[in-house]
Amino acid sequence: MIVVAATQNKHKIQEIESITRLFGFEIVSRGDAGVPDVEISEDGETFEENSYKKAAEIMKLCGRISIADDSGLMVDALSGAPGVISARFSGEGATDQMNNAKLLDLLKDVPEDERGAKFVSVITMVYPEGRTIVARGECFGHIIREPHGNGGFGYDPLFVPEGFTKTFAELTSDEKNQISHRALALQKLRLQLGEIAG
Ligand code: IMP
Repeated sequence: MIVVAATQNKHKIQEIESITRLFGFEIVSRGDAGVPDVEISEDGETFEENSYKKAAEIMKLCGRISIADDSGLMVDALSGAPGVISARFSGEGATDQMNNAKLLDLLKDVPEDERGAKFVSVITMVYPEGRTIVARGECFGHIIREPHGNGGFGYDPLFVPEGFTKTFAELTSDEKNQISHRALALQKLRLQLGEIAG
C-alpha cells in the first residue's frame, strides 16, 4: 500500500519507511506522488496541529494515506520556546547557525542545572476513510554553552541527550536514530499500526 509523505527530506522518508514497511507500506514523497507543490503553512500552536494539517492536506490532494511529521526543540528556561517555530526562531529565512546563536544568547545567564530541554516529534497518518493515527516522541537532554560536532542539523550541536556526554551532532547517525524524538515517535507509530493490523 502506498503512503505519501508530506516531507521531501529523503533522510526522514527513509526513517519513516524503515518502520512502516514492516506493515506493507511503501513510502513515496509528495513530489514523486505528483502532489501539486502547494505551500502548507505551519501556523498551528502545537506539533500535533501542524503535523495533522500537513498530513490531511496532502491526503486531500492525492486521495491516498498520507504521513507527516512536525518536530522542534522545547527549552525549559524559555517556557518551551522555540517549540513550533524552531525552524524560524530567529526570523523567516533563518539558518541553523542564526537560530543556534539566538538560543545561546537567550540562555547565556542560565545556570547549568536549569538548561534542560527536549526535542519533540509528532508523526500523523491520515487515511482517506477518516482514520487518524498520531504518535509523539520526546528526547530529553540539556543545552550546552557552545556548539560541538559537525553531524546532524538544526540544534544538534547544542543538545546533549540524557545519559550522554556528546551532542547529537557528535553522535553517529545510527546512535542518534536509536534515541531521537523521531525514532521514539516511529516506535509508537509501529505499536499503533501493529494494533490495527491485529
Ligand atoms: P521540521 O519538523 O522539519 O519542520 O523541523 C523543525 C525544526 O526543528 C528544524 O528546522 C530544526 O531546527 C529543529 N529540529 C527538529 N528535529 C531536529 C533534530 O533532530 N535535530 C536538530 N534540530 C531539529
